[in-house]
Amino acid sequence: MTTTLQKMDYCRICCKHTLHIYDEHSCNHILHLLLTLVTGGLWLLIWILAILSSYNTKPVCTSCGGVMPPEMIKRLQLDREAERALSRTKWALRMKRISESWQHFLDGFFQVVDTLIHWLERTVNGFLHLVDSSVRWLDRIVKWPV
Ligand SMILES: [Zn+2]
Repeated sequence: MTTTLQKMDYCRICCKHTLHIYDEHSCNHILHLLLTLVTGGLWLLIWILAILSSYNTKPVCTSCGGVMPPEMIKRLQLDREAERALSRTKWALRMKRISESWQHFLDGFFQVVDTLIHWLERTVNGFLHLVDSSVRWLDRIVKWPV
C-alpha cells in the first residue's frame, strides 16, 4: 500500500526548512494477519516478504523539487576546483619541505664524513712521520750489521 506523506525538513538547495513529500510503501498488517489465520499460517511467508519490501521514497522539497539551479551547480564545481588546487599547492609545499630537510641532512652527513677523512689523513700522516723519524734516529745510533 502506497501513501504519500509530508513533513518539514531542511532543504540544502533552498537553505531553509520547507515542506517535503515522500511515499511510504507499507503493508496492511491487519489484512495479512487475517490471511495468515485463514490459510493456517501459509500466508506468513508472504507477510514477511511484504514487510521486507516495504520502504519509503526519498523526501523531495516542494519548493524546488530537489533540483539544483544551474548557477548553484556551477558555483559548487568552482568550489571543488579551488579545493583541488589548494590541496595540490599544499602537497607541493610538503614535498618541498621534505626535500629541503633531506638536503639539510645530507649536507650535515657529508660534512661529518669530510671531517672524518681529514682526521684520518692527519693521523695516518702523523704515524708515518713518527715511524720515519724513529727509523732515522735508530739509523744514527745503531750500527746495523752489514
Ligand atoms: Zn528546496
